[in-house]
Amino acid sequence: MEDLSKYTKELSKLFNIPGNIVLISHINPDGDAIGSQLALYHYLKDKGRNVEMFTPNNIQEFLKWMDGATDITIYIKERSKCRRMIENADLIVMFDFNQSNRLGEAEPYVLRSHAKKVIIDHHLNPDDFADLIISDPSKCSTAELVHELITLVNGGPFMSKAYAEALYVGIVTDTGNFEHGPYSARTFRIVADLIDTGLEKGKILNLVYNNFSSDRLRLQGFALHKRMVVLPEYHTAYIYLSKEDLSEYNHVKGDTEGFVNMPLSIKGIYFSVMFIEKKGFIKLSFRSTGSFPTNKFAKEYFSGGGHLNASGGEYRDTLENTIQYFLDSLKKVKVDF
Ligand code: 5GP
Ligand code: MN
Repeated sequence: MEDLSKYTKELSKLFNIPGNIVLISHINPDGDAIGSQLALYHYLKDKGRNVEMFTPNNIQEFLKWMDGATDITIYIKERSKCRRMIENADLIVMFDFNQSNRLGEAEPYVLRSHAKKVIIDHHLNPDDFADLIISDPSKCSTAELVHELITLVNGGPFMSKAYAEALYVGIVTDTGNFEHGPYSARTFRIVADLIDTGLEKGKILNLVYNNFSSDRLRLQGFALHKRMVVLPEYHTAYIYLSKEDLSEYNHVKGDTEGFVNMPLSIKGIYFSVMFIEKKGFIKLSFRSTGSFPTNKFAKEYFSGGGHLNASGGEYRDTLENTIQYFLDSLKKVKVDF
């Protein structure tokens, strides 16, 4: 685990920069991207800073209830507003990603900007596109890392209802409600502090996890019943969904979130893969339990990356050919616990 206190001085200076601060989360933002972005937003707002936020594309339904979510501009909906934000920024802070292409359409503008740039993230091997890169893969979520950093800069924990909820959403979604990822005793201590301040965790879990359509539940049943293939000899299982499958169940963004984790509940299955057919390419999600490095596999065969146990990639071919290519690739690696 990294000693984060070495960042205190520089971060304090940056967070006190006179002028405009812009906070950016990654494309297809998940709970941790939005949670960590909003946590710093609420802190900086409380300190009277001038802060704006955007995200490259749409925020999923299950995150829209969050306090401050309506203050996040969607780049692809309000391009000129976001470009103006970038142009006028003195400080840009980016959350939960470490490759500049995850800025989506905003990438060239952010890279060109003269603002000071900070990355706060917990993925391995960050690319160098900021003045300060704070990357700690030992953290279960960027939200947890943001909280640790704010605690240092603030000289003690900062708390407010909106801040606590943002942190909790980041931690809960990135650990699958404390099922996976490198959460630690420290994570639970932070959550304990949040609960002490009156966090309504039942309400939040309900908003995050019990917020789906009946179509989504049926799609899940269909995916597990008709589209899951188990390969016991490879300790692997995969699920595939074609465009037709998705439209049959009136799929909306986020509906397939979490499906890829499910095959890992099968005894002896340590590697799970999901194939989703998109326009012109196949999006892959990888999950493992134990030591199999899905990020290495994703990088080597599917131009992707991510964490050891959770990563993703893509492949430009038909669903059928992609699955065949995956099966050929799988033969070249050894999946073990
Ligand atoms: P998911 O399967 O939930 O889409 O992604 C899991 C994790 O894998 C993400 O947090 C992200 O770190 C990583 N990831 C997903 N897709 C890609 C990709 O195409 N490229 C890279 N480098 N990482 C990805
Ligand atoms: Mn994250």
